[in-house]
Amino acid sequence: MKAGLYIHVPFCIRKCPYCDFYSVSGTDESLKTEYTAAVIRNTERYLERYPDLSFDTVYFGGGTPSLMPAAFFGSVLGCIKGRLDTNAEITMELNPKTADEEKLNEIRRSGVNRVSAGIQSAIDSELRDLGRIHDFAEAAEAVRIAKNAGFDNISGDLMIGIKGQNEESLVQSVNALASLGLKHISSYMLKIEPGTEFFRNGISSVVPDEEKTAELYLLAVKTLAEKGYRQYEISNFSLPGSESRHNLKYWNCEDYIGIGPSAHSCFDGKRYEVPRDLSSFITGPYQKEEVNEDHPCGFFEKAMLALRLSAGLDLDKYPDEAPLVLKQAQKLKETGLINCGNGVISLTPEGFLVSNEIISRLLADF
Ligand code: SF4
Repeated sequence: MKAGLYIHVPFCIRKCPYCDFYSVSGTDESLKTEYTAAVIRNTERYLERYPDLSFDTVYFGGGTPSLMPAAFFGSVLGCIKGRLDTNAEITMELNPKTADEEKLNEIRRSGVNRVSAGIQSAIDSELRDLGRIHDFAEAAEAVRIAKNAGFDNISGDLMIGIKGQNEESLVQSVNALASLGLKHISSYMLKIEPGTEFFRNGISSVVPDEEKTAELYLLAVKTLAEKGYRQYEISNFSLPGSESRHNLKYWNCEDYIGIGPSAHSCFDGKRYEVPRDLSSFITGPYQKEEVNEDHPCGFFEKAMLALRLSAGLDLDKYPDEAPLVLKQAQKLKETGLINCGNGVISLTPEGFLVSNEIISRLLADF
C-alpha cells in the first residue's frame, strides 16, 4: 500500500495578512518539542495500523516547516525509515527569512531533497504590500544557501494579483525567479479569503481587479513557457521532469495521509481532515479525523481533478462516461477554452481561468 505523507507545521514567525492556512504566530521551543512528539505518535500509529504501508513522497508544509529544528525532520524521517522508498521525493517548504546554512545542511543530510521557497515576487514594494517579512535579496540568498546545502530540486512561489503589480513587474519577477535556477514554480492568484486581515481591511479595492489579474495570469503562463517552465496544472509549472510528485497525487486521486491540524487525507477509501486545533492535536492522544467522504475518487471527482492538469482527462479510461462528456465538449469546442482530441479533453490557459465553470459544464451529466 503506497501513499504520500503530508506533515503540517502550524507555526509562523508572523501571520501574513492574506493567508488562511492554519498556523499560529510565535516560535515557542517547548511547543515545537511537544508538536514533534505528537507528529511522531500519529505517524507511528499509521505504521502500526497498516503494516504494508510505505511512502514514495513526503511533504512538510505549513505554516513554516523551516522554523522547526533540523532534528524534527530527522525524527519524522527516522520514524518511517524502512517504509520510505529510496527515491522518495521529500519536500520542505522554506520561508526565505528562516534560511540558515547550518540548519539546511543538516536538514538535507536527514533526507529532505526538495525545497519549496515562498518567494512570491522579486519586487520589494510588492513583498511589503503582501506583508511578507523578506525582501527579494533575502529570497535569492535563501535559494543560494539551499543549493549550497545540496538541494538541487528547488521550487518557488510566485503570487499574481498583488497591489501595484503590472505587466512589467510581473515579467521582472518571472525572469528573476527563473534566473535563480528554480526547477519548479507555483503561481497562485491572490484570493482575499474571509477571516484574513486583507479581508477585514477591505484590501480587495486596491488589488488588481479580476480582469486585470486574469491578464497577468495569462502573461505569467506565456513568460514562464518562454523560460522553459511547462504548465502542468492550473497553478504549477516546471522544467521537464521536475513536476511535484507529491502534489500530483492530489490531482491523480492517489492515496495520501495528512498529519497535523488542518491536514487532509485521502486514504483507505475515505477523505478526511484534522480539526484546526493545535492544542487538541498536541494533547492527543491521537489526531481527530473528520470524514468528509466515505467513497471518494468516483468518476466525477477523478474527472474534476484530472481537468486541473494540462494532461487533461483521458476518456479512454472511462468508456461508459466518455460519450456524455464528449457531448458537452462539442458545445465548448469553438470557445478556445478546451482542447479536445484523441480521446483527451484538457483546458487551455484561458479555460483554467474559468475552470470551475468549464469543469461543471463538461461534467453536467454526472
Ligand atoms: S509564512 Fe506562509 S503559512 Fe505563514 S502566514 Fe505567511 S503565507 Fe501563511
